Amino acid sequence: MPNLSQLLTSYSSLESQRVFEACRDLAVENDGVNGVYVVGGVVRDLVIGREPGDIDISVEGDAAGFATMLASRIGATAPVESQFLTFKIDTSDVFETFATIDIVTARSETYSESASLPDVETSSIEADLLRRDFTVNSMGISLSVETWGALFDPSNGFADILRKRIKVHHDGSFLDDPTRIFRAIRYASRLGFSFDARTEQLIENSIEVIDNLSGDRVRREFELILNELGFVEMLKSAEELDILAAISPGFRIGAKNFQILESLTENHQIPNDNQDLLALITFGLSDDEAAQVVARFNGPLDWGESIIGNAELAKRVTVLDRDDLLPSEVEELLHDVPEASIRAYQQIGPPLPRQKRLKDYLETIRFVTPEINGDDLLEIGIPQGPIIGEIMDIVRRARLDSKVVSKQEELELARSRFPGFLTS
Ligand code: ATP
Repeated sequence: MPNLSQLLTSYSSLESQRVFEACRDLAVENDGVNGVYVVGGVVRDLVIGREPGDIDISVEGDAAGFATMLASRIGATAPVESQFLTFKIDTSDVFETFATIDIVTARSETYSESASLPDVETSSIEADLLRRDFTVNSMGISLSVETWGALFDPSNGFADILRKRIKVHHDGSFLDDPTRIFRAIRYASRLGFSFDARTEQLIENSIEVIDNLSGDRVRREFELILNELGFVEMLKSAEELDILAAISPGFRIGAKNFQILESLTENHQIPNDNQDLLALITFGLSDDEAAQVVARFNGPLDWGESIIGNAELAKRVTVLDRDDLLPSEVEELLHDVPEASIRAYQQIGPPLPRQKRLKDYLETIRFVTPEINGDDLLEIGIPQGPIIGEIMDIVRRARLDSKVVSKQEELELARSRFPGFLTS
C-alpha cells in the first residue's frame, strides 16, 4: 500500500490541510469512528496534479457524530443530512478554496432496478470505494493517525490515471445508474482521458437506459455539462455517442452550431446566460423537436423558452426579408420572441436581409418608447381603462415609424384616435 502523505501536506492547500488534520485528530477523539479517508475527486485530482474541488470524506463508523465534531472544529455551521448516511458541511463562510465537505458513511450499494435509488448497507472502505462510478474516482487516502497517508485503491485507479483512462467497475454500471454515462463524458473531456475499450462499448450498449432517468435528473446532468469549461467538446462527444438522441429523439446539434460555439469559446465570448447557451445549442430544431426536448428536460417554466423561441422565430423570420417592412411591423413580429433566440439567429442564421432587421430590433426598435405616458392621456380626457393601453400602442407604433416626432404630435395622434363616444 503506497503512502501518499505528501499529497495531504505539501501538495494540498493550507485550508485542505487544516481539514485533513482535524479529521485525523477527531478520529482519535471519537470512539465510534474506525477509519477516516479522503476519497473520490480530491484524491483523483491530487494524484493528477490538478486543483481539487469540494472535499469528500468517507467514515467507517459514526459519520453523523464525526461530521458534527468536524463542523464545530473548523468553525462551520452544523452539518445537514443531505442523503441517507451522508452529511454536508457548508464551508463557504470559512474557507475560500472549497464550498462544502461531504461526509459519507462507508457503505455498499446495490440497485434493484435501473436508475432506482440504491439499497445501502454500511461497509468497509474497500466496498465503499468499489460502489463508485469509475476506477479513477475510487481511491481513498487514510486520514487516521496509524495509517495516515496510506492509499486504498481496490480497483487500481492509480494505474488508470497513469494510463489516462476512464473505466467502470463492472458491466452493469451504466444500467444501475445511467447518470454515469454523462459523468463519463465529463471526466474524459475535463481530464483529457479516453474511455477504456470495454467502457466505451458499455456506453454504446447502454444509451437507451437514459430513458429510465427522470427529466429532472437528465436536466441536472446536462446542466453540469454546460457548467464545465470544456462543455463544447463534451457536447460533441455526447453527439458522437448518440447520447443527445437518446435524451430526446430529435435532439441533435448541427455542425454550424458547433463551429459557432467553438469560435465563441476561442474568443472567450461564451454567454453566461443559460438561455443564450441553450438557444445556440438547439438552433435548427423544428417546432416538434424543440417541444419534445423541452418536455424531456422537465424544466421550470422559463427553462426552455429560448429553445421553443428558436423554432417560433424560424417560422416568422422570412417575412423580415421584405424591404417594405416598417419598424412597427418588425416590432410586432419579434416582440414575443426571446432575445436569446434572436441572438442565436444572428450568430447561426443565414446572411440574408433579415439579419439587418434583427440587429435593428435588438439595438434600437425594442427601446423606442413614446414621450407621452398614460397620465398625459388622462390629462387630455381619455378615461382610465384598457383604451389607454390601446392608444399608447398606436402612438408607439407611429413613433417607431417616425409618423410622429414630438410630444405634441403624439398627443394630437392620441386625441384623433380616441373614439369620443367613449367619454361618459
Ligand atoms: P467533481 O470534480 O466534478 O466535483 P467529484 O469526483 O468530486 O467530481 P462528485 O459528483 O462530487 O464528483 O462525487 C463525489 C464522488 O462520489 C465521486 O468522485 C465518485 O466517487 C462518487 N460518485 C458520485 N456520483 C456517483 C455516481 N452516480 N455513481 C457512483 N459514484 C458516484
